[in-house]
Amino acid sequence: MPRPRVLDLGQGRQLVDIDFRDTEGLIAAYLVPEEGGWTLIETGPSTCRDALLAGIRYAGVGLDEVRHVFVTHIHLDHAGGVGALLDALPRATFYAHELGVPHLVEPSKLVASARRAWGAAADRLWGPIVPVPATRIVALRGGERFPVRGGELSVLATPGHARHHLAFFDSATRGIFTGDGAGVRLERSSRARPAVPPPDLDLEQLFSSLDAMRATHPALVLYSHFGPSPDGAGDLERYRGVVEEWRDVALSAARENPDPDFVTQRLREHDQPPSGGAPPAPAGPDDRSTLVSGYELAARGFLRYFETHGLLAQGLG
Ligand SMILES: [Zn+2]
Repeated sequence: MPRPRVLDLGQGRQLVDIDFRDTEGLIAAYLVPEEGGWTLIETGPSTCRDALLAGIRYAGVGLDEVRHVFVTHIHLDHAGGVGALLDALPRATFYAHELGVPHLVEPSKLVASARRAWGAAADRLWGPIVPVPATRIVALRGGERFPVRGGELSVLATPGHARHHLAFFDSATRGIFTGDGAGVRLERSSRARPAVPPPDLDLEQLFSSLDAMRATHPALVLYSHFGPSPDGAGDLERYRGVVEEWRDVALSAARENPDPDFVTQRLREHDQPPSGGAPPAPAGPDDRSTLVSGYELAARGFLRYFETHGLLAQGLG
């Protein structure tokens, strides 16, 4: 394992790169100091457990000092590792949205949906999904507040990307942890990309949640994929437009041919237009963003949303 990568965010807040897919800059976890302990935001998947624990120690935090662990939602790249961390973080209480908690306690549906979405690659990507005893996990619904050093961490219900999505606002730094609710914005990329997977993508909810996050007037947006954005407030403002752009591309493709592969290809062409005489842009697997937010998942997310909202029929006849 490479030396842990930990970034100081000021006021004691730290980012831990959990080295997903042995790749820098894909999934971040965050440490926020409390009086007499630490809060961890996001666990990542079980496959990142050792990198996360090494990063926490490297940040100078004892594993028994971690008291509160929040996950933005229960997708496996954010919360798949909760069960695998119970022993390593013996004094921690875990927190997730109330719609997500039952699936962390009894993860058979999580496992099944991972197999559906990722096929044979699921085990290699996510590792074991260990059930969490109900005594170790607390359900949140939004509106809760937790003391942290210099202020409080407030919980915002932010459905849309998923029904069980939360964001966390740190009043001391005015930083907001957006999970996947404001898309994916890797370091050095110019803008956030849509994070719009199946099964419960809801664009109206996603846009209202974005408004709710903007209403906190964040000074800093902290993406799970990945890190602090130099212009987070601007990113939040522009994200709706990017999602609408992709939605329109996907909808016109789907009305032409609702085959997921066809819609995937249209989204890819939209995002990486053919370069004319110039050398071709890197193909899918080389584009790091697609490692955490691929075109195919977006196509399937949109298709399911269009179907359940009766949007495909309008294009027929
Ligand atoms: Zn997600």
